[in-house]
Amino acid sequence: MSEDQFDFDVTVVGAGVAGAVTAYLLAQKGLSVALIDRGETPGSKNLSGGVLYCRSMTTVFPDFFDQAPYERRISRNQLVFMTPESSVALDYADERLHRGGTAVTVLRAKLDAWLAERCEEAGVMVMPGTRVDGLRIDQGRVVGVRAGEDELNCRVVVAADGVNSFLCRDAGLRPKPASNQLALGVKAVVKLPDGQLESRFGLAPDHGAALALVGDCTQGVGGGGFLYTNRDSCSVGLVLRLDDLVRQGLRSVDLFDHLLAHPLLERYLADGQLVEYGCHLVAEGGRAMRGQIVHNGLVVVGDAAGLTINTGFTVRGMDLAVGSAIAAAEAVAAAIAADDVSAAGLAPYETALDQSYVGQDMRTFAKAPHFMEGDRLYHDYGPLLADILFQIYHLDTSPRHRLMKVARSALKASPLRLTQLARDGWEGVRAL
Ligand SMILES: Cc1cc2nc3c(=O)[nH]c(=O)nc-3n(C[C@H](O)[C@H](O)[C@H](O)COP(=O)(O)OP(=O)(O)OC[C@H]3O[C@@H](n4cnc5c(N)ncnc54)[C@H](O)[C@@H]3O)c2cc1C
Repeated sequence: MSEDQFDFDVTVVGAGVAGAVTAYLLAQKGLSVALIDRGETPGSKNLSGGVLYCRSMTTVFPDFFDQAPYERRISRNQLVFMTPESSVALDYADERLHRGGTAVTVLRAKLDAWLAERCEEAGVMVMPGTRVDGLRIDQGRVVGVRAGEDELNCRVVVAADGVNSFLCRDAGLRPKPASNQLALGVKAVVKLPDGQLESRFGLAPDHGAALALVGDCTQGVGGGGFLYTNRDSCSVGLVLRLDDLVRQGLRSVDLFDHLLAHPLLERYLADGQLVEYGCHLVAEGGRAMRGQIVHNGLVVVGDAAGLTINTGFTVRGMDLAVGSAIAAAEAVAAAIAADDVSAAGLAPYETALDQSYVGQDMRTFAKAPHFMEGDRLYHDYGPLLADILFQIYHLDTSPRHRLMKVARSALKASPLRLTQLARDGWEGVRAL
């Protein structure tokens, strides 16, 4: 195509975190950029549990803490093993987390709208309410996108269209993900009665809590739950491994109701008002899911590139989306300046991504998806922990036993064997 046939230097498809940050950075480098999203307003269709690890976002927006519509700074993290009647928590609170602004809770409708505003200020043409139907390909090179009757020509397309990336499949970059590489995310936002949130969670103003839930909350389906505090509401939900959900014949809506009925959740959410509810797929396959992320005239960022890490302690996707956006914007701008947007010209994106914290963390936690597939984690560990603690705290008139004997008798009553405990412990420390 000739120079004057290009409408923009770059077209970014998807105004989620990955797409908006890529578009913003490219516009800052003086390129003409279109940012297209199918949602009526950017972010309107997006869903996230809501904990954003901020280290990369604050490098892009140094004024993030003053300007961005975040909810609370997380200073307390809990990992909670649940049985139908109990919950055993590893409860970690630390002022350093709050001071350093490690993580904040966000609501995507607000965050994505703010990111789109920042893009517009930087000169990006933001086009909401437009669904991209396919790529325009000319002699093996991506030269634009099709949206209904319209065509948009550009030097480079950035596929930031999320976990289901239709653009990647259109370009033959990634096969359809296997069902064990996907999870179904179910999330609600529950508004608490005025003034209740801080006292219920034991939080100071602007401090937030993030609870990761394992066990009874998914009724044995691989995955977990979460409960995060916003300003005056909570984000609560489940992430359910798709293959296991189907195999066990359970429905996400029933599991979600079951979660809300648990005594722990009932206490936190009592008299709350449901203000938002939705479902969304989550990429869970780790590095194995990535596929090709560079093609002639095309790069892939964020969830579209399979960039998520779930270790049970943390669920990460948004910060990896930002990291990929930073690497992609740098490489795309350099390729355009060098007038080489072939796969070879754009290849520095892949190298930069692999060398960044995104690539390093994806490698470090490459074994996590396999470890998290183990059934025992969801069935057996919660009851074992609860039984040990029950025998410690439930005093009656019978003689007490020391911890070792208590643990041994709880283990005997559990389907878990000592060899399995040892194997899971060993694999856990190597995977997580
Ligand atoms: C229930 C749940 C809980 C999660 N919890 C967390 C968490 O606590 N912390 C965390 O960091 N991550 C979490 N994640 C993962 C996180 O949400 C994603 O990793 C992150 O949203 C990826 O950003 P993205 O920009 O790549 O994709 P998305 O946010 O999915 O954005 C993709 C965008 O592309 C647009 N789009 C798609 N197709 C088209 C098309 N054809 N034309 C035009 N536009 C299109 C969509 O409208 C959307 O705006 C969670 C996910 C879920 C579902």
